[in-house]
Amino acid sequence: MIHIKSASEVKKIRQACRIVAEVLERMRDWVAPGVTTVELNQKAEALILRRGGIPSFKGYPPGSPYPFPAVICTSVNEELVHGIPGPRVLKEGDIISIDVGAIYDGYHGDAGITLPVGEVSEEARRLLEVTEGALYAGIAQARAGNRVGDISAAIQNFVESRGYNVVREYTGHGIGRQMHEDPQIPNHGEPGRGPLLRPGMTLAIETMVLAGDWRVRTLENHWTVVPVDGKLTAYFEHTVLVRDGEAEILTRWGE
Ligand code: MG
Repeated sequence: MIHIKSASEVKKIRQACRIVAEVLERMRDWVAPGVTTVELNQKAEALILRRGGIPSFKGYPPGSPYPFPAVICTSVNEELVHGIPGPRVLKEGDIISIDVGAIYDGYHGDAGITLPVGEVSEEARRLLEVTEGALYAGIAQARAGNRVGDISAAIQNFVESRGYNVVREYTGHGIGRQMHEDPQIPNHGEPGRGPLLRPGMTLAIETMVLAGDWRVRTLENHWTVVPVDGKLTAYFEHTVLVRDGEAEILTRWGE
């Protein structure tokens, strides 16, 4: 069931999203050669708590034998999503995807970016540009009266016309009282298909893009998703509010 948010619910989601956006903005300074992914995790946790938020990924999903053990996901180079922070030291030329979630007064915000570590290859830079561009192409379709398939098709067309592939096994999602609500928002689809978008829906739109084949697998740590062919991947995500006309990006970080 798709939940239309009231104004007071949107207010709380907006606050959760501000916390997430601030963490991502700070990541631009924190991510550098020589930094470990667990240091990024500690900094994110401290900032979320300082802003009155609760990290939403730690311990997710409840009741699982393998709950996610950290506050953020850090996925380096070929790792697509759900990488676990640890002792890995970032080095010049890496790219790192960072996914951040926070709860404020019972409501969720969720967003992510892929950042270059120092100077990166032309190939990596282009992958980041395409993955971020696809996110904004998808968001441009997230307007009342359109359907989820319009978002998905825009993402897929943007990515495939530039010679890359979109993920098939993971999707964006509705968000609010739960981190993952209906509808699912795939990175591929048909225009005019799927659930109708209405004002007051809050959606976490995510683009997950692969330089090679779209087939992925999960590592033995039960979380980290990597492409089977080991090629470079990237990911971006925003939480947005659907309105008449353009969606409001609730997790917008500094331009
Ligand atoms: Mg998400």
